[in-house]
Amino acid sequence: MTVPPKDADARRAIAPVIVYPNDSLAAPDLALYTAALATAERVHRVMAPPRDACTFHVPAGSFFRITSVEGPQVGDLNLWNAQDLNERFFSGKTRALHGTHLTKGERMWSSLPYLRPMATIVEDSLDWYGVDAFGGSVHDVIGTRCDPYTGKLLQGTQYHHCCHSNLTRALARHLGVSVQAAEPHVHDVLNVFMCTGFTRDTGQYFMKASPVRPGDHLTFFAEIDLLGALSACPGGDCSSEHSSDVAVCYPLQVDVLTPAEGSLGAWQSPEPNGYDRSHGV
Ligand SMILES: [Zn+2]
Repeated sequence: MTVPPKDADARRAIAPVIVYPNDSLAAPDLALYTAALATAERVHRVMAPPRDACTFHVPAGSFFRITSVEGPQVGDLNLWNAQDLNERFFSGKTRALHGTHLTKGERMWSSLPYLRPMATIVEDSLDWYGVDAFGGSVHDVIGTRCDPYTGKLLQGTQYHHCCHSNLTRALARHLGVSVQAAEPHVHDVLNVFMCTGFTRDTGQYFMKASPVRPGDHLTFFAEIDLLGALSACPGGDCSSEHSSDVAVCYPLQVDVLTPAEGSLGAWQSPEPNGYDRSHGV
C-alpha cells in the first residue's frame, strides 16, 4: 500500500460539503397535494403478482399508491412519461438531489434532457424508520434492480424472474412488443419498501429484512402523465437472498386515485428543464 503523506489525517479531517444543497430546489406544495388526496377516489387497481410485475397509467394530477398486502414484500418501480418512453426515471440524479433514500416531500426526477419532477411522494407510512444503527433506511435509489445478467456473472445461473425480467415482460405486454424491444426501456428503479445501506467499513451495498407490513403504503402525486411498472421482487422482504425462488414472496397492490375537480387549484404540470441545449456550440 502507498505510504500515507504526513498530512493524511488532516486531509481526512476536512468536513464534507453537500454537492447539491437541496434548499435551492422549489419545494412541492404538500399541503395542496394532501388536501387534493383527501378528495381522491380510486379509479383503478392492479396487482403485481409475486415474482412478476404489472403496469399502470396515472394521468398528470392524479395519485398512485403502492400498498403491501398479505406479507412483507419489496417492489422495484419504473416510471416513464406515458407519451414518450425516452423520458424516464433518473435514479442517479434523484439520489444526488435528495440522498440515498426517498420519503414524503421528495421527488422522482426524469432523465436528461428533461430533468423535471415525474412524481412527488405525498405519503410514506414507513417514514418513522429513519436511519437505523447499521446506516440502513427504506425506499432506496442506490440499488439498480436485480437482473439475470448479474446472476449469470456471479452464480452462473439462468434465472428469469428477477425484477429486470419482470419489468421487461410487463412492459412488453403493455406495449404489445417483444421482450427484446421492451428491455432497453427498463431502467434503474426506486426500491419501494426495501431497507438498504452501505457498510461503513467496506462501503458494500447491503440489504436487510424490510420493516414493511401489510397495510404500509407509499403514495405519489403524478406531476406528468405516467406509465408505471412495478415488480414484486423475488427477494420477498429481502432478508436473505434475491435472484432465486428461495425467498417467500407476496403481491403488491397499486391503486390509481383521481382527486376532485378543482382540488389542485392553480397547479400545473412542470415543463421539461429549461437548459437551452446548445452545449457550448
Ligand atoms: Zn428485485
